[in-house]
Amino acid sequence: MKNKVIICDFDGTITETDNIIAIMKKFAPPEWDSLKNGVLSQEISIREGVGKMFQLLPSFKKNDIIDYILEHAEIRTGFKDFVQYTKDKNIPLFIVSGGIDFFVYPLLKDLIDEDKIYCNRANFTNEQIEIEWPYSCDDHCDNECGCCKPSLIRKLTDKEQSKIVIGDSITDLQAAKLGDFVIARDLLLEKSKELNLPHKPFTTFYDVIDILEQLEEVEV
Ligand code: MG
Ligand code: ZN
Repeated sequence: MKNKVIICDFDGTITETDNIIAIMKKFAPPEWDSLKNGVLSQEISIREGVGKMFQLLPSFKKNDIIDYILEHAEIRTGFKDFVQYTKDKNIPLFIVSGGIDFFVYPLLKDLIDEDKIYCNRANFTNEQIEIEWPYSCDDHCDNECGCCKPSLIRKLTDKEQSKIVIGDSITDLQAAKLGDFVIARDLLLEKSKELNLPHKPFTTFYDVIDILEQLEEVEV
């Protein structure tokens, strides 16, 4: 597989667990749970669900939330070596995340340049936290993704490139469908099997490096 480009999710992929879920578990009133279930079952859009979840949190908690995440989030094994591998091989790597700037940027500091990170933004000026969506869906997507991964794939990659999508959840599915190959765990792995997308499972980023090495041999 020649001329690869990698689109990599953040929450539950680069980090061991989902940071939005961790924030809600710790700081939100119980209503957040049905919003989460609505998103996972695709009854409500990601944008609506995530927006409403953060609306449950008061802005004055900002620093508590940031401290909590920086203390508890864990970067998945091998990520740093994986980033180095993509640099050595000249494979463009974009982080495309439905996460929020205030935790994505600090967790990726010194690992990924900020101009390679695409995520949502939090606005703490009102009483409750407001999420802003700088990467909304383009004309080809009506899923109300929030951070629209398919739109970003269209914007960041070209036809000549083999698109590798790395992710863990239902929020990566539309991107995975546009990919030439999916490297998946958890719910995205189930969905990739179900839909017969070309894919391999991963646990650590050393697995991802091995898979990328194997893909070198594949003619596409
Ligand atoms: Mg994820
Ligand atoms: Zn979209």
